[in-house]
Amino acid sequence: MKKYKLYFEIVPDECWRGNLRSLLAPADWDKIRKSAYARAGYKCSVCGARGRLEAHERWHYDEKKKLQKLVGVDALCSRCHEVTHISRAYLVGRGAEAMEWFMQVNGCSQAEYHEALQEANEEHARRNKIEEWTTDMQEWLQNNLYRSSKK
Ligand SMILES: [Zn+2]
Repeated sequence: MKKYKLYFEIVPDECWRGNLRSLLAPADWDKIRKSAYARAGYKCSVCGARGRLEAHERWHYDEKKKLQKLVGVDALCSRCHEVTHISRAYLVGRGAEAMEWFMQVNGCSQAEYHEALQEANEEHARRNKIEEWTTDMQEWLQNNLYRSSKK
Protein backbone atom coordinates (compact mmCIF):
# COMPACT_ATOMS: atom_id res chain seq x y z
CA MET A 1 0.00 0.00 0.00
CA LYS A 2 1.42 3.37 -0.99
CA LYS A 3 1.90 5.76 1.93
CA TYR A 4 0.45 9.25 1.70
CA LYS A 5 0.77 11.98 4.27
CA LEU A 6 -2.97 12.55 4.00
CA TYR A 7 -4.80 9.24 4.10
CA PHE A 8 -8.19 7.67 4.74
CA GLU A 9 -9.21 6.12 8.02
CA ILE A 10 -12.43 4.18 7.79
CA VAL A 11 -13.64 2.89 11.12
CA PRO A 12 -15.08 -0.64 11.03
CA ASP A 13 -18.87 -0.51 11.42
CA GLU A 14 -18.88 -2.47 14.61
CA CYS A 15 -16.15 -0.43 16.25
CA TRP A 16 -16.73 2.17 18.79
CA ARG A 17 -17.27 5.34 16.78
CA GLY A 18 -14.22 7.12 18.03
CA ASN A 19 -15.40 10.17 19.76
CA LEU A 20 -13.48 10.93 22.89
CA ARG A 21 -15.33 14.16 23.24
CA SER A 22 -18.55 12.39 24.14
CA LEU A 23 -16.80 10.13 26.59
CA LEU A 24 -14.64 12.52 28.54
CA ALA A 25 -15.44 15.39 30.81
CA PRO A 26 -15.49 18.60 28.73
CA ALA A 27 -12.45 19.95 30.59
CA ASP A 28 -10.46 16.79 29.82
CA TRP A 29 -11.39 16.84 26.15
CA ASP A 30 -10.39 20.49 26.04
CA LYS A 31 -7.02 19.66 27.54
CA ILE A 32 -6.41 16.89 24.96
CA ARG A 33 -7.53 19.08 22.09
CA LYS A 34 -5.41 22.04 23.10
CA SER A 35 -2.29 20.01 23.74
CA ALA A 36 -2.67 18.46 20.26
CA TYR A 37 -2.83 21.95 18.73
CA ALA A 38 0.18 23.11 20.75
CA ARG A 39 2.19 19.99 19.79
CA ALA A 40 1.52 20.72 16.13
CA GLY A 41 2.64 24.34 16.55
CA TYR A 42 -0.93 25.53 15.89
CA LYS A 43 -0.72 24.27 12.31
CA CYS A 44 -2.41 21.35 10.59
CA SER A 45 -0.15 18.37 11.24
CA VAL A 46 -0.68 17.14 7.67
CA CYS A 47 -0.70 20.16 5.33
CA GLY A 48 0.68 22.84 7.66
CA ALA A 49 -2.26 25.20 7.22
CA ARG A 50 -2.90 27.72 9.95
CA GLY A 51 -6.33 28.68 11.12
CA ARG A 52 -9.11 26.71 12.73
CA LEU A 53 -7.98 23.26 13.79
CA GLU A 54 -9.87 20.11 14.67
CA ALA A 55 -8.72 17.24 16.86
CA HIS A 56 -8.60 13.88 15.15
CA GLU A 57 -8.25 10.59 17.01
CA ARG A 58 -5.75 8.14 15.53
CA TRP A 59 -6.54 4.47 15.96
CA HIS A 60 -4.51 1.39 15.32
CA TYR A 61 -6.31 -1.81 14.35
CA ASP A 62 -4.82 -5.13 15.29
CA GLU A 63 -6.87 -7.58 13.25
CA LYS A 64 -5.41 -10.64 14.94
CA LYS A 65 -6.16 -9.42 18.44
CA LYS A 66 -9.40 -7.73 17.30
CA LEU A 67 -8.15 -4.67 19.06
CA GLN A 68 -8.91 -1.06 18.23
CA LYS A 69 -6.38 1.04 20.07
CA LEU A 70 -6.12 4.78 20.48
CA VAL A 71 -2.61 5.85 19.48
CA GLY A 72 -2.87 9.60 19.33
CA VAL A 73 -4.82 12.77 18.83
CA ASP A 74 -3.66 14.99 15.98
CA ALA A 75 -4.43 18.54 14.98
CA LEU A 76 -5.93 18.70 11.49
CA CYS A 77 -7.42 21.53 9.46
CA SER A 78 -11.02 20.97 8.42
CA ARG A 79 -10.09 20.08 4.82
CA CYS A 80 -7.62 17.38 5.83
CA HIS A 81 -10.03 16.13 8.48
CA GLU A 82 -12.75 15.81 5.86
CA VAL A 83 -10.53 13.69 3.61
CA THR A 84 -9.62 11.44 6.54
CA HIS A 85 -13.31 10.64 7.00
CA ILE A 86 -13.81 10.06 3.28
CA SER A 87 -17.05 8.08 3.49
CA ARG A 88 -18.67 10.90 5.41
CA ALA A 89 -17.40 13.41 2.84
CA TYR A 90 -19.17 11.46 0.08
CA LEU A 91 -22.27 11.10 2.22
CA VAL A 92 -22.64 14.86 2.54
CA GLY A 93 -21.90 15.46 -1.15
CA ARG A 94 -18.34 16.69 -0.76
CA GLY A 95 -16.56 13.81 -2.44
CA ALA A 96 -15.22 15.98 -5.27
CA GLU A 97 -13.73 18.55 -2.87
CA ALA A 98 -12.18 15.81 -0.77
CA MET A 99 -10.66 14.21 -3.86
CA GLU A 100 -9.18 17.55 -5.01
CA TRP A 101 -7.63 18.16 -1.61
CA PHE A 102 -6.21 14.63 -1.36
CA MET A 103 -4.55 15.04 -4.76
CA GLN A 104 -3.22 18.51 -3.94
CA VAL A 105 -1.80 17.65 -0.51
CA ASN A 106 -0.31 14.34 -1.59
CA GLY A 107 0.76 15.52 -5.03
CA CYS A 108 -0.82 12.53 -6.71
CA SER A 109 -2.99 11.79 -9.72
CA GLN A 110 -6.69 11.01 -9.83
CA ALA A 111 -5.85 7.41 -10.67
CA GLU A 112 -3.73 7.19 -7.52
CA TYR A 113 -6.54 8.72 -5.50
CA HIS A 114 -8.95 6.05 -6.72
CA GLU A 115 -6.41 3.36 -6.03
CA ALA A 116 -5.89 4.59 -2.45
CA LEU A 117 -9.65 4.81 -1.94
CA GLN A 118 -10.14 1.29 -3.20
CA GLU A 119 -7.45 0.01 -0.86
CA ALA A 120 -9.09 1.78 2.08
CA ASN A 121 -12.46 0.29 1.14
CA GLU A 122 -10.98 -3.19 0.91
CA GLU A 123 -9.33 -2.76 4.28
CA HIS A 124 -12.64 -1.60 5.68
CA ALA A 125 -14.49 -4.58 4.23
CA ARG A 126 -11.90 -6.95 5.69
CA ARG A 127 -12.08 -5.38 9.14
CA ASN A 128 -15.85 -5.40 8.99
CA LYS A 129 -15.78 -9.18 8.84
CA ILE A 130 -14.12 -9.27 12.23
CA GLU A 131 -16.58 -9.47 15.08
CA GLU A 132 -16.29 -8.28 18.64
CA TRP A 133 -13.61 -5.65 18.45
CA THR A 134 -12.18 -4.52 21.76
CA THR A 135 -11.40 -0.85 22.28
CA ASP A 136 -8.35 0.25 24.22
CA MET A 137 -7.94 3.93 24.89
CA GLN A 138 -6.89 3.62 28.50
CA GLU A 139 -3.18 3.35 27.84
CA TRP A 140 -3.05 6.47 25.73
CA LEU A 141 -5.21 8.42 28.16
CA GLN A 142 -3.06 7.26 31.03
CA ASN A 143 0.07 8.57 29.34
CA ASN A 144 -1.38 11.73 27.91
CA LEU A 145 -4.17 12.95 30.09
CA TYR A 146 -4.10 11.58 33.59
CA ARG A 147 -0.36 11.74 34.03
CA SER A 148 -0.08 15.35 32.96
CA SER A 149 -3.05 16.39 35.06
CA LYS A 150 -1.38 15.18 38.23
CA LYS A 151 1.53 17.59 37.84
ZN1 LIG B 1 -4.59 20.27 6.62
